[in-house]
Amino acid sequence: MERTLSIIKPDGVKKNLIGAVVKRFQDEGFKIAAMRMIHMSTREAEGFYYVHKERPFFGSLTDFMTSGPSVVMVLERENAIAKNREIMGATNPADAAEGTLRKQYADNIENNIVHGSDAPETAAFEIGYFFKGLEIF
Ligand code: ADP
Ligand code: MG
Repeated sequence: MERTLSIIKPDGVKKNLIGAVVKRFQDEGFKIAAMRMIHMSTREAEGFYYVHKERPFFGSLTDFMTSGPSVVMVLERENAIAKNREIMGATNPADAAEGTLRKQYADNIENNIVHGSDAPETAAFEIGYFFKGLEIF
């Protein structure tokens, strides 16, 4: 069993996709181990995406992530990190495979509906960033 952090980003919430995204993960065998709706502050978004702080899109990305509420979740299953990335699809929906969440629902490379941890170390950091142990079931 492995855990990963998933976020339904503000565009996904605005488009009323919470149910569709959660259903997809459950249909793919993920257990929802934790879940909360939050509206990230600039400081929280900057801390979450600190690895991208030198990138030209950092300011725009943190503006986007603070533009409305999002849903943060801990997803659990075998091979959760890679499986979540597979279901999400490529960062840019134009490059995302058929049947992926980003291909289905995302507008562009920035407004791409969902986040998923990319490695065990980032999953551990990202889960701990939003959830304490007692909030994960
Ligand atoms: P992923 O979310 O697929 O792991 P990255 O970690 O590379 O992608 O980027 C984090 C997020 O930053 C992306 O999901 C997207 O919202 C945004 N982003 C990435 N690249 C760009 C870009 N070139 N222009 C604008 N936003 C971007
Ligand atoms: Mg990433």
